[in-house]
Amino acid sequence: MSAYNGKYTEELIKTAAYIGTPGKGILAADESTGTIGKRLSSINVENNESNRRALRELLFTTPGALECLSGVILFEETLYQKTAAGKPFVDVLKEGGVIPGIKVDKGTVDLPGTDGETTTQGLDDLAKRCQEYYSAGARFAKWRAVLKIGPNEPSQLAINENANGLARYAIICQQNGLVPIVEPEILVDGSHDIDKCADVTERVLAACYKALNDHHVLLEGTLLKPNMVTPGSKSAKATPEKIAEYTVRALQRTMPPAVPAVVFLSGGQSEEEATLNLNAMNKLQTKKPWSLTFSFGRALQQSTLKTWAGKTENLQKAQAAFLARCKANSQATLGKYEGSSVPAEALESLHVEGYKY
Ligand code: 13P
Repeated sequence: MSAYNGKYTEELIKTAAYIGTPGKGILAADESTGTIGKRLSSINVENNESNRRALRELLFTTPGALECLSGVILFEETLYQKTAAGKPFVDVLKEGGVIPGIKVDKGTVDLPGTDGETTTQGLDDLAKRCQEYYSAGARFAKWRAVLKIGPNEPSQLAINENANGLARYAIICQQNGLVPIVEPEILVDGSHDIDKCADVTERVLAACYKALNDHHVLLEGTLLKPNMVTPGSKSAKATPEKIAEYTVRALQRTMPPAVPAVVFLSGGQSEEEATLNLNAMNKLQTKKPWSLTFSFGRALQQSTLKTWAGKTENLQKAQAAFLARCKANSQATLGKYEGSSVPAEALESLHVEGYKY
């Protein structure tokens, strides 16, 4: 088998390894304009360019936060934005030791003949866009494939189609210098138990790594962004220890040690739940040849958003809330999070059925 070996090989390996540095993780701040609009409307703030920029500035300039992060995923608009004082966000991140990343998928469309299963779009002009994003300072990318658990889902069609799409995306990114984050998200929606989620996660990951190898993707220059293995949203919750055991076992069974790191999505878990689950995985004594860190969107931003509420006078408090989550997750990547007295927002479930990013 011949994995990608070209102009960017060494850089890809270095970037992926850096992003996986224990003690650090990724802030997913790549909400599309539509998705960020839902967040802003939840705090009665208008979805315009200036407010989107202000929220991102709040996050990226929080004193101390960047030390807990190795990467930030941006939406295209944000990649080219600046602070109010005129400094490009990309420079703010780089100076803070944080690698800028970019969401490159164009959302999902239905797969005809299935019960609402989807495939992800955006391959056509991907090489060209990767080149532009690389020139603008991005060094890694994200592409989200979505699968769901149902009576007959995920179908083999959805598994194959999404694995293949992720692999095509991944190799195109590598040819153009971006480390691909491979994200096959299995939605938490449903009343299934944790065994069902484990079974589906293992099948999906096995298909993804088969496709990545078939497409000659350099695994050392990739990252995996999976769901944690949990019971469905309509089932009783499992403990962090059980979630850790099932999640790490699913990875052991399917994920090659050539991949440097797993950066979990939070998928609608509350802030505190996501942190405790990550912490339990890092405490687990078992074979773990990859680092286990985070790439949280909702679970890093929810209490910050609520505290900010779009008001300048709340900026400091909102930044304190963001720093608290960054530190908690940084500790969780080392298995050293002790839990703490957290505000009510940190315990709030962030689950939305059929969530679209
Ligand atoms: P959540 O952590 O909010 O699930 O989002 C992460 C992400 O980037 C999904 O694509």
